Amino acid sequence: MTKKRVYEIARDLGVPSKELLEALVELGMPGLRAVSTVTDEEAELIRAFFRDRQAPAAPEAPRRPEPPPSPKREGTPRPPIVAVLGHIDHGKTTLLDAIRKAHVAEGEAGGITQSIGAYQAVVHGRAITFIDTPGHRAFTAMRARGAQVTDIAILVVAADDGVMAQTLEAVDHIKAAGVPVIVAINKMDKPGASKDRVLSDLAKLGYTPEEWGGSTVMVPLSALTGQGVDELLEMILLVADMEGIYGDPEGDLEAMVIESSLDSGRGPLATVIVRNGTLRERDAIVVGATWGRIRALHDHRGGRIPAAGPGTPAVVLGLSGVPVAGEKVERVEGPNEARRIAEERSRATVDERRAARPPRTFEELIQVAQTKQLVVVLKAASVGALEAARHELGNLKADGVELEILHAGVGPITETDVLLASAEQDMQPLIVGFAVKVDGKAARLAEQRNVPVRTYDIIYDLAQDVGRALRRLLGPELRETKIGEAEVLKTFDIDGVGRVAGCSVRSGRVVRSGKVKVYRDGEGVFAGEIASLKRFTDDVREVLAGRECGIRIRDWNDVQPGDTIEIYTVEEISV
Ligand code: GDP
Repeated sequence: MTKKRVYEIARDLGVPSKELLEALVELGMPGLRAVSTVTDEEAELIRAFFRDRQAPAAPEAPRRPEPPPSPKREGTPRPPIVAVLGHIDHGKTTLLDAIRKAHVAEGEAGGITQSIGAYQAVVHGRAITFIDTPGHRAFTAMRARGAQVTDIAILVVAADDGVMAQTLEAVDHIKAAGVPVIVAINKMDKPGASKDRVLSDLAKLGYTPEEWGGSTVMVPLSALTGQGVDELLEMILLVADMEGIYGDPEGDLEAMVIESSLDSGRGPLATVIVRNGTLRERDAIVVGATWGRIRALHDHRGGRIPAAGPGTPAVVLGLSGVPVAGEKVERVEGPNEARRIAEERSRATVDERRAARPPRTFEELIQVAQTKQLVVVLKAASVGALEAARHELGNLKADGVELEILHAGVGPITETDVLLASAEQDMQPLIVGFAVKVDGKAARLAEQRNVPVRTYDIIYDLAQDVGRALRRLLGPELRETKIGEAEVLKTFDIDGVGRVAGCSVRSGRVVRSGKVKVYRDGEGVFAGEIASLKRFTDDVREVLAGRECGIRIRDWNDVQPGDTIEIYTVEEISV
């Protein structure tokens, strides 16, 4: 008996798999997934049911209410933007090449296609945009600049090798980005291939395959022979349908640079992917600190195009400089405005560079932190060391602050780690290494991005430092010590100065540098600090009990006779 997959039936019927799956629930076949197989009879039943349901004449055909339009999902389905991640040599490049060869139409000018950093494949008449710089470096470089370009991540795992260090790293990057993932189990043609081992490794990472009752889509394939590649493409379309990836050609422009270069003939080139809206020739744009009026747009086949709509990659010609990957493209009224904004930005960047001394310690950096979450990238020399360090960090606690290990891996601290950490700039990212080195590029990037990096040879020091950083997020702990009390006898309002309280010191002492709390009829009415302390007309540092003095409170002129002023000192307790 032959078997058919649900998505194949959907294709035969010419409907999205998502729609068919919804119909199957009505048919009393819940729990089926797009990759599930059904028997011939079941397939026929499904076809018949679906045709009836579609037929307008059938009175029993249930009509589903239209889902309410979500404000973020305006427009129509657009090509999903896909990035390919995974361990080195697991076949990312081979897979991207295989898809390009089979599904990208030849370009103009004799079929010479240029790599622009992205291409569009066409599958069953629908386009899929692939970012063809493989690896999570590019993926995260964009996120680090606050731009999320990818809709779906393909995680490539070689079936003969299984999950490796960079697979784990890629998983952390994908999870941090929160994008749906499809696992491509590659090299199935190789004699040593073991799909089951990959499945069980991935299950440990929280990716359970559909055939084991989970929800992660996994496709066994061979990028080299092409076996299974079409199924992967089907799955991309399916996940895109499930996710509801929409764009509005008339909507606000949302576009970002994924690659850029300087061409000796054509000047600065930037490959841009449009997520929403439409980018057109002659548009005035600002990209970071560069600007221009678009002189020409080229597609991934080297041909000139008048416009690039949602989900489309295009090369932009006509910018004043080479923009940085990850930078957003903004459209403005005209070239004058574009230039003004870009110039303002480059001035601001120069000033910022001059002014900024990168914070070097966790403590220094954390003083400016806005959040109560510490995210840590942890690297260690071996799996054993990593587990030990992870365990130590797991033991750290501080009420009201969270510690999240964004990524833990074996090996030196690299640029990728810095990119991953700096993508979480609005949290509090730290990178710590246990018995590992920081590579030179990573150190430079960390400095530029203000991400603190520390390495340790002793695990205790690592845990203590991170623990300190964690507690520091709560702000310094303060200890107040009451040192004296004064009673307000009279007040004097002095022009241009404010109100001075003539006081008698009842106990302890009043110090010029002290803080005050003011009580009226037993109730606290103000807390602040002393602006000036005088004995007669002289400024003094302190006045002891039994004497009289004039106290002016900073920024408060409401002190009244009969008030009690409590004087105290505040110390920061070091954590
Ligand atoms: P990347 O580093 O992930 O981009 O990996 P590549 O695409 O460069 O592939 C690394 C090596 O694996 C190359 O020699 C490829 O020919 C080989 N390779 C890639 N995919 C397959 C496959 O499906 N089967 C086999 N047998 N070899 C493959």
